[in-house]
Amino acid sequence: MANYTISVIHGDGIGQEVGVEGVRVMQAIGEKFGHTFTFPEYLAGGAALDAHGVPLPDDTLKGVKDSHALLFGAIGGPKWEKVAHHLKPEAGLLKLRKELGAFANLRPAVVFDELLDASTLKPEVLRGTDIMVLRELTGGIYFGTPRGIDGEGPQRRGYNTEVYHVYEIERIAKMAFEIARGRRKKVCSVDKANVLESSQLWRDTVIGVAKAFPDVALSHMYVDNAAMQLIRDPKQFDVIVTGNIFGDILSDESSQLTGSIGMLASASVGGPVGFFEPIHGSAPDIAGQQKANPLAMIGSAALLLRYGLKLEAEAIAIEAAIRAVLKDGKRTGDIKQAGLPVLTTRQMADAVLGHLRAK
Ligand code: NAD
Repeated sequence: MANYTISVIHGDGIGQEVGVEGVRVMQAIGEKFGHTFTFPEYLAGGAALDAHGVPLPDDTLKGVKDSHALLFGAIGGPKWEKVAHHLKPEAGLLKLRKELGAFANLRPAVVFDELLDASTLKPEVLRGTDIMVLRELTGGIYFGTPRGIDGEGPQRRGYNTEVYHVYEIERIAKMAFEIARGRRKKVCSVDKANVLESSQLWRDTVIGVAKAFPDVALSHMYVDNAAMQLIRDPKQFDVIVTGNIFGDILSDESSQLTGSIGMLASASVGGPVGFFEPIHGSAPDIAGQQKANPLAMIGSAALLLRYGLKLEAEAIAIEAAIRAVLKDGKRTGDIKQAGLPVLTTRQMADAVLGHLRAK
Protein backbone atom coordinates (compact mmCIF):
# COMPACT_ATOMS: atom_id res chain seq x y z
CA MET A 1 0.00 0.00 0.00
CA ALA A 2 1.42 3.32 -1.02
CA ASN A 3 0.68 6.82 -2.30
CA TYR A 4 1.53 7.68 -5.87
CA THR A 5 1.21 10.87 -7.89
CA ILE A 6 0.43 10.07 -11.51
CA SER A 7 0.48 13.11 -13.78
CA VAL A 8 -2.08 12.95 -16.55
CA ILE A 9 -2.01 14.64 -19.95
CA HIS A 10 -5.13 13.84 -21.92
CA GLY A 11 -4.03 15.91 -24.93
CA ASP A 12 -6.13 16.29 -28.06
CA GLY A 13 -8.76 14.38 -30.02
CA ILE A 14 -9.41 10.88 -28.71
CA GLY A 15 -6.66 11.46 -26.13
CA GLN A 16 -9.41 13.09 -24.07
CA GLU A 17 -11.79 10.16 -24.35
CA VAL A 18 -9.35 7.32 -23.75
CA GLY A 19 -7.35 9.24 -21.13
CA VAL A 20 -10.36 9.47 -18.84
CA GLU A 21 -10.82 5.70 -19.06
CA GLY A 22 -7.16 5.04 -18.26
CA VAL A 23 -7.57 7.06 -15.07
CA ARG A 24 -10.79 5.25 -14.10
CA VAL A 25 -9.04 1.90 -14.44
CA MET A 26 -6.09 3.10 -12.34
CA GLN A 27 -8.53 4.29 -9.69
CA ALA A 28 -10.13 0.86 -9.61
CA ILE A 29 -6.70 -0.71 -9.19
CA GLY A 30 -6.03 1.67 -6.31
CA GLU A 31 -9.23 0.55 -4.59
CA LYS A 32 -8.57 -3.12 -5.26
CA PHE A 33 -4.96 -3.14 -4.03
CA GLY A 34 -5.18 -0.41 -1.41
CA HIS A 35 -3.02 2.23 -3.11
CA THR A 36 -3.79 5.93 -3.17
CA PHE A 37 -3.30 7.48 -6.58
CA THR A 38 -3.63 11.21 -7.18
CA PHE A 39 -3.95 12.41 -10.75
CA PRO A 40 -2.92 16.04 -11.33
CA GLU A 41 -3.83 16.99 -14.91
CA TYR A 42 -1.65 19.07 -17.25
CA LEU A 43 -1.94 20.49 -20.74
CA ALA A 44 0.26 19.62 -23.72
CA GLY A 45 -0.05 19.58 -27.50
CA GLY A 46 -2.77 21.50 -29.29
CA ALA A 47 -4.76 22.08 -26.10
CA ALA A 48 -1.72 23.78 -24.52
CA LEU A 49 -1.06 25.78 -27.68
CA ASP A 50 -4.60 27.13 -27.60
CA ALA A 51 -4.48 27.95 -23.89
CA HIS A 52 -0.88 29.15 -23.45
CA GLY A 53 0.64 29.60 -26.92
CA VAL A 54 3.19 26.79 -26.46
CA PRO A 55 2.81 23.01 -26.90
CA LEU A 56 4.63 22.20 -23.66
CA PRO A 57 4.09 24.78 -20.89
CA ASP A 58 6.71 24.99 -18.11
CA ASP A 59 4.21 24.03 -15.41
CA THR A 60 3.39 20.85 -17.34
CA LEU A 61 7.04 19.88 -17.44
CA LYS A 62 7.55 20.69 -13.79
CA GLY A 63 4.40 18.83 -12.71
CA VAL A 64 5.36 15.76 -14.69
CA LYS A 65 8.92 15.78 -13.33
CA ASP A 66 7.54 15.96 -9.79
CA SER A 67 5.30 12.91 -10.29
CA HIS A 68 5.99 9.17 -10.10
CA ALA A 69 4.87 8.54 -13.68
CA LEU A 70 2.96 10.12 -16.54
CA LEU A 71 -0.15 8.75 -18.20
CA PHE A 72 -0.42 10.37 -21.63
CA GLY A 73 -3.29 10.31 -24.15
CA ALA A 74 -2.42 11.67 -27.59
CA ILE A 75 -1.74 15.05 -29.14
CA GLY A 76 -2.06 16.76 -32.51
CA GLY A 77 -4.69 17.32 -35.16
CA PRO A 78 -5.46 19.22 -38.35
CA LYS A 79 -6.17 22.44 -36.43
CA TRP A 80 -2.48 22.85 -35.61
CA GLU A 81 -0.89 21.48 -38.79
CA LYS A 82 0.02 24.89 -40.17
CA VAL A 83 1.68 26.35 -37.06
CA ALA A 84 5.44 26.93 -37.02
CA HIS A 85 7.49 23.75 -36.58
CA HIS A 86 8.68 24.59 -33.05
CA LEU A 87 5.08 25.24 -31.94
CA LYS A 88 3.57 22.06 -33.36
CA PRO A 89 1.93 19.73 -30.83
CA GLU A 90 4.41 17.02 -31.89
CA ALA A 91 7.31 19.35 -31.03
CA GLY A 92 5.90 19.52 -27.50
CA LEU A 93 5.81 15.72 -27.29
CA LEU A 94 9.37 15.36 -28.58
CA LYS A 95 10.57 17.96 -26.07
CA LEU A 96 8.76 16.16 -23.26
CA ARG A 97 10.43 12.86 -24.19
CA LYS A 98 13.82 14.54 -24.38
CA GLU A 99 13.37 16.40 -21.07
CA LEU A 100 12.33 13.24 -19.27
CA GLY A 101 15.35 11.39 -20.62
CA ALA A 102 13.10 8.46 -21.50
CA PHE A 103 15.44 6.92 -24.04
CA ALA A 104 13.62 3.62 -24.51
CA ASN A 105 10.16 3.07 -25.87
CA LEU A 106 8.73 -0.38 -25.18
CA ARG A 107 5.95 -1.44 -27.49
CA PRO A 108 4.56 -4.90 -26.85
CA ALA A 109 2.60 -6.41 -29.76
CA VAL A 110 0.66 -9.40 -28.53
CA VAL A 111 -1.85 -11.18 -30.76
CA PHE A 112 -4.87 -12.29 -28.73
CA ASP A 113 -6.51 -15.48 -29.98
CA GLU A 114 -9.89 -13.73 -29.79
CA LEU A 115 -8.72 -11.10 -32.29
CA LEU A 116 -7.09 -13.41 -34.82
CA ASP A 117 -9.75 -12.45 -37.33
CA ALA A 118 -9.42 -8.71 -36.71
CA SER A 119 -6.05 -8.55 -38.46
CA THR A 120 -5.67 -8.47 -42.22
CA LEU A 121 -3.13 -11.31 -41.95
CA LYS A 122 -3.96 -15.00 -41.87
CA PRO A 123 -4.67 -16.49 -38.42
CA GLU A 124 -2.09 -19.25 -38.91
CA VAL A 125 0.61 -16.63 -39.52
CA LEU A 126 -0.39 -14.65 -36.45
CA ARG A 127 -1.29 -17.17 -33.78
CA GLY A 128 1.13 -17.00 -30.85
CA THR A 129 2.79 -13.73 -31.90
CA ASP A 130 4.28 -11.92 -28.93
CA ILE A 131 6.86 -9.27 -29.81
CA MET A 132 8.46 -6.54 -27.75
CA VAL A 133 9.64 -3.71 -29.97
CA LEU A 134 12.23 -1.58 -28.22
CA ARG A 135 12.61 1.76 -29.98
CA GLU A 136 15.37 4.25 -29.19
CA LEU A 137 13.51 7.44 -28.42
CA THR A 138 15.76 10.40 -27.77
CA GLY A 139 18.32 10.19 -30.57
CA GLY A 140 18.59 9.55 -34.28
CA ILE A 141 17.19 11.58 -37.12
CA TYR A 142 14.31 13.12 -35.14
CA PHE A 143 16.79 15.06 -33.02
CA GLY A 144 20.03 15.19 -35.04
CA THR A 145 21.45 18.47 -36.27
CA PRO A 146 21.94 20.13 -38.70
CA ARG A 147 18.32 20.14 -39.76
CA GLY A 148 16.20 22.60 -41.66
CA ILE A 149 14.92 23.93 -44.95
CA ASP A 150 16.88 26.56 -46.87
CA GLY A 151 17.69 27.82 -50.36
CA GLU A 152 15.40 29.12 -53.08
CA GLY A 153 13.46 27.75 -56.03
CA PRO A 154 14.60 24.37 -57.35
CA GLN A 155 17.64 24.62 -55.06
CA ARG A 156 15.44 24.81 -51.95
CA ARG A 157 16.32 21.80 -49.81
CA GLY A 158 15.18 20.06 -46.66
CA TYR A 159 17.62 18.06 -44.57
CA ASN A 160 17.93 16.08 -41.34
CA THR A 161 20.75 14.23 -39.67
CA GLU A 162 20.77 10.65 -38.44
CA VAL A 163 23.27 10.51 -35.58
CA TYR A 164 23.92 8.00 -32.79
CA HIS A 165 26.57 7.93 -30.08
CA VAL A 166 27.94 4.72 -28.57
CA TYR A 167 26.47 5.53 -25.14
CA GLU A 168 22.99 5.89 -26.63
CA ILE A 169 23.21 2.54 -28.38
CA GLU A 170 24.77 0.75 -25.42
CA ARG A 171 22.06 1.69 -22.92
CA ILE A 172 19.17 0.64 -25.15
CA ALA A 173 20.91 -2.56 -26.24
CA LYS A 174 21.52 -3.45 -22.60
CA MET A 175 17.84 -2.91 -21.82
CA ALA A 176 16.86 -5.10 -24.79
CA PHE A 177 19.02 -7.99 -23.56
CA GLU A 178 17.69 -7.63 -20.02
CA ILE A 179 14.08 -7.69 -21.22
CA ALA A 180 14.82 -10.69 -23.46
CA ARG A 181 16.12 -12.57 -20.41
CA GLY A 182 12.60 -12.40 -18.96
CA ARG A 183 11.10 -13.62 -22.24
CA ARG A 184 12.26 -16.06 -24.94
CA LYS A 185 15.89 -14.88 -24.84
CA LYS A 186 16.15 -13.60 -28.42
CA VAL A 187 17.14 -10.10 -29.56
CA CYS A 188 16.94 -8.99 -33.18
CA SER A 189 18.73 -5.69 -33.79
CA VAL A 190 17.35 -3.82 -36.80
CA ASP A 191 19.46 -1.33 -38.76
CA LYS A 192 20.51 -0.26 -42.24
CA ALA A 193 24.21 -1.01 -41.81
CA ASN A 194 24.67 -1.72 -45.52
CA VAL A 195 24.04 1.97 -46.31
CA LEU A 196 24.29 4.14 -43.17
CA GLU A 197 27.41 4.74 -41.07
CA SER A 198 25.22 5.45 -38.03
CA SER A 199 23.78 1.96 -38.47
CA GLN A 200 27.24 0.41 -38.78
CA LEU A 201 28.13 1.94 -35.42
CA TRP A 202 24.77 0.71 -34.08
CA ARG A 203 25.50 -2.86 -35.16
CA ASP A 204 29.12 -2.90 -33.89
CA THR A 205 27.99 -1.51 -30.53
CA VAL A 206 25.13 -4.00 -30.10
CA ILE A 207 27.55 -6.85 -30.82
CA GLY A 208 29.80 -5.46 -28.07
CA VAL A 209 26.98 -5.28 -25.53
CA ALA A 210 25.87 -8.84 -26.41
CA LYS A 211 29.12 -10.23 -24.95
CA ALA A 212 27.73 -9.63 -21.45
CA PHE A 213 24.58 -11.63 -22.32
CA PRO A 214 25.79 -15.00 -23.65
CA ASP A 215 22.47 -16.61 -22.73
CA VAL A 216 20.57 -14.37 -25.17
CA ALA A 217 20.69 -15.08 -28.93
CA LEU A 218 21.45 -11.98 -31.02
CA SER A 219 20.55 -11.59 -34.68
CA HIS A 220 20.68 -8.62 -37.05
CA MET A 221 18.29 -7.58 -39.77
CA TYR A 222 18.19 -4.72 -42.26
CA VAL A 223 15.11 -2.60 -41.73
CA ASP A 224 13.64 -3.29 -45.17
CA ASN A 225 13.86 -7.04 -44.54
CA ALA A 226 12.46 -6.60 -41.02
CA ALA A 227 9.43 -4.77 -42.44
CA MET A 228 8.86 -7.76 -44.71
CA GLN A 229 9.56 -10.47 -42.10
CA LEU A 230 7.15 -8.89 -39.63
CA ILE A 231 4.22 -9.68 -41.87
CA ARG A 232 5.68 -12.87 -43.38
CA ASP A 233 6.50 -14.67 -40.13
CA PRO A 234 6.02 -12.49 -37.02
CA LYS A 235 6.46 -15.41 -34.61
CA GLN A 236 10.20 -15.49 -35.36
CA PHE A 237 10.64 -12.31 -33.28
CA ASP A 238 10.95 -11.99 -29.53
CA VAL A 239 12.62 -8.63 -28.74
CA ILE A 240 13.36 -6.21 -31.58
CA VAL A 241 15.71 -3.34 -30.76
CA THR A 242 16.13 -0.48 -33.20
CA GLY A 243 16.67 3.25 -33.65
CA ASN A 244 14.11 6.02 -33.45
CA ILE A 245 12.77 6.28 -37.00
CA PHE A 246 12.95 2.56 -37.81
CA GLY A 247 11.23 1.78 -34.51
CA ASP A 248 8.53 4.34 -35.20
CA ILE A 249 7.65 2.61 -38.45
CA LEU A 250 8.11 -1.03 -37.40
CA SER A 251 6.08 -0.64 -34.23
CA ASP A 252 3.15 0.78 -36.19
CA GLU A 253 3.49 -2.13 -38.59
CA SER A 254 3.48 -4.58 -35.70
CA SER A 255 0.31 -2.90 -34.43
CA GLN A 256 -1.42 -4.15 -37.54
CA LEU A 257 -0.54 -7.71 -36.50
CA THR A 258 -2.65 -7.26 -33.40
CA GLY A 259 -5.65 -6.13 -35.41
CA SER A 260 -5.76 -2.47 -34.47
CA ILE A 261 -3.56 0.39 -33.41
CA GLY A 262 -6.25 0.88 -30.74
CA MET A 263 -4.89 -2.19 -28.92
CA LEU A 264 -1.25 -1.17 -28.56
CA ALA A 265 0.22 0.30 -25.40
CA SER A 266 3.69 1.73 -24.89
CA ALA A 267 6.09 2.61 -22.13
CA SER A 268 8.82 5.23 -22.40
CA VAL A 269 11.41 4.61 -19.73
CA GLY A 270 15.06 5.11 -18.85
CA GLY A 271 14.78 8.51 -17.14
CA PRO A 272 13.61 9.39 -13.63
CA VAL A 273 9.91 9.59 -14.63
CA GLY A 274 8.54 7.07 -17.11
CA PHE A 275 5.68 7.93 -19.39
CA PHE A 276 3.04 5.64 -20.63
CA GLU A 277 0.83 6.15 -23.66
CA PRO A 278 -1.06 4.33 -26.38
CA ILE A 279 0.91 4.25 -29.63
CA HIS A 280 -1.96 5.75 -31.59
CA GLY A 281 -2.40 9.45 -32.24
CA SER A 282 -5.35 11.75 -31.63
CA ALA A 283 -7.43 10.12 -34.44
CA PRO A 284 -9.23 13.30 -35.57
CA ASP A 285 -11.46 11.19 -37.84
CA ILE A 286 -13.22 9.58 -34.86
CA ALA A 287 -12.55 12.12 -32.09
CA GLY A 288 -15.46 13.13 -29.86
CA GLN A 289 -17.65 10.27 -31.06
CA GLN A 290 -16.95 7.61 -28.41
CA LYS A 291 -15.63 5.33 -31.16
CA ALA A 292 -12.06 5.01 -29.89
CA ASN A 293 -10.85 1.74 -28.46
CA PRO A 294 -9.63 2.50 -24.92
CA LEU A 295 -7.69 -0.78 -24.56
CA ALA A 296 -4.38 0.69 -25.77
CA MET A 297 -4.74 3.34 -23.08
CA ILE A 298 -5.79 0.84 -20.44
CA GLY A 299 -2.87 -1.40 -21.46
CA SER A 300 -0.61 1.63 -21.03
CA ALA A 301 -1.87 1.95 -17.47
CA ALA A 302 -0.80 -1.68 -16.96
CA LEU A 303 2.68 -0.85 -18.29
CA LEU A 304 2.78 2.17 -15.95
CA LEU A 305 2.13 -0.11 -13.02
CA ARG A 306 4.74 -2.66 -14.17
CA TYR A 307 7.60 -0.47 -15.38
CA GLY A 308 6.83 2.86 -13.69
CA LEU A 309 5.82 1.73 -10.21
CA LYS A 310 7.08 -1.90 -10.17
CA LEU A 311 3.59 -3.14 -9.27
CA GLU A 312 3.54 -6.42 -11.19
CA ALA A 313 0.39 -7.98 -9.67
CA GLU A 314 -1.57 -4.81 -10.41
CA ALA A 315 -0.35 -4.81 -14.03
CA ILE A 316 -1.28 -8.45 -14.45
CA ALA A 317 -4.77 -7.73 -13.07
CA ILE A 318 -5.38 -5.16 -15.82
CA GLU A 319 -3.98 -7.40 -18.55
CA ALA A 320 -6.16 -10.28 -17.35
CA ALA A 321 -9.22 -8.00 -17.46
CA ILE A 322 -8.37 -6.97 -21.04
CA ARG A 323 -8.12 -10.63 -22.07
CA ALA A 324 -11.38 -11.37 -20.29
CA VAL A 325 -13.39 -8.67 -22.06
CA LEU A 326 -12.11 -9.82 -25.42
CA LYS A 327 -13.07 -13.37 -24.50
CA ASP A 328 -16.52 -12.09 -23.52
CA GLY A 329 -16.93 -10.79 -27.08
CA LYS A 330 -16.63 -7.10 -26.22
CA ARG A 331 -15.51 -5.14 -29.30
CA THR A 332 -15.09 -1.52 -30.33
CA GLY A 333 -15.44 -0.50 -33.99
CA ASP A 334 -11.76 -0.94 -34.87
CA ILE A 335 -11.84 -4.64 -33.86
CA LYS A 336 -15.45 -5.33 -34.72
CA GLN A 337 -16.50 -8.84 -35.57
CA ALA A 338 -19.59 -10.14 -37.32
CA GLY A 339 -22.32 -11.02 -34.83
CA LEU A 340 -20.86 -8.99 -31.96
CA PRO A 341 -22.18 -5.59 -30.91
CA VAL A 342 -19.93 -2.55 -31.29
CA LEU A 343 -19.30 -0.85 -27.95
CA THR A 344 -18.52 2.77 -27.23
CA THR A 345 -15.26 3.84 -25.58
CA ARG A 346 -17.04 4.13 -22.22
CA GLN A 347 -18.81 0.77 -22.54
CA MET A 348 -15.54 -1.02 -23.32
CA ALA A 349 -13.85 0.59 -20.32
CA ASP A 350 -16.84 -0.31 -18.15
CA ALA A 351 -16.46 -3.93 -19.23
CA VAL A 352 -12.82 -3.89 -18.10
CA LEU A 353 -13.82 -2.27 -14.81
CA GLY A 354 -16.49 -4.93 -14.35
CA HIS A 355 -13.83 -7.65 -14.49
CA LEU A 356 -11.45 -5.78 -12.23
CA ARG A 357 -14.10 -5.28 -9.59
CA ALA A 358 -15.52 -8.79 -9.87
CA LYS A 359 -12.43 -10.63 -8.65
P1 NAD B 1 -3.75 8.08 -35.54
O1 NAD B 1 -3.11 7.02 -34.75
O2 NAD B 1 -4.33 9.21 -34.80
O3 NAD B 1 -4.93 7.43 -36.44
C1 NAD B 1 -4.66 6.46 -37.45
C2 NAD B 1 -5.93 5.64 -37.72
O4 NAD B 1 -6.15 4.74 -36.63
C3 NAD B 1 -7.18 6.49 -37.83
O5 NAD B 1 -8.03 5.93 -38.79
C4 NAD B 1 -7.82 6.38 -36.46
O6 NAD B 1 -9.22 6.52 -36.45
C5 NAD B 1 -7.41 4.98 -36.03
N1 NAD B 1 -7.25 4.90 -34.58
C6 NAD B 1 -6.24 5.41 -33.85
N2 NAD B 1 -6.42 5.15 -32.56
C7 NAD B 1 -7.57 4.45 -32.45
C8 NAD B 1 -8.28 3.90 -31.34
N3 NAD B 1 -7.86 4.01 -30.07
N4 NAD B 1 -9.43 3.25 -31.60
C9 NAD B 1 -9.89 3.12 -32.86
N5 NAD B 1 -9.25 3.61 -33.94
C10 NAD B 1 -8.10 4.28 -33.74
O7 NAD B 1 -2.68 8.61 -36.59
P2 NAD B 1 -2.77 9.83 -37.63
O8 NAD B 1 -4.15 9.91 -38.20
O9 NAD B 1 -1.61 9.65 -38.52
O10 NAD B 1 -2.48 11.12 -36.77
C11 NAD B 1 -3.51 11.98 -36.25
C12 NAD B 1 -2.84 13.04 -35.37
O11 NAD B 1 -2.24 12.40 -34.21
C13 NAD B 1 -1.72 13.79 -36.05
O12 NAD B 1 -1.78 15.13 -35.64
C14 NAD B 1 -0.46 13.14 -35.53
O13 NAD B 1 0.65 13.99 -35.55
C15 NAD B 1 -0.86 12.80 -34.13
N6 NAD B 1 -0.12 11.70 -33.51
C16 NAD B 1 0.14 11.81 -32.18
C17 NAD B 1 0.77 10.77 -31.52
C18 NAD B 1 1.00 10.90 -30.05
O14 NAD B 1 0.38 11.73 -29.40
N7 NAD B 1 1.86 10.09 -29.46
C19 NAD B 1 1.14 9.61 -32.22
C20 NAD B 1 0.83 9.51 -33.57
C21 NAD B 1 0.19 10.57 -34.22
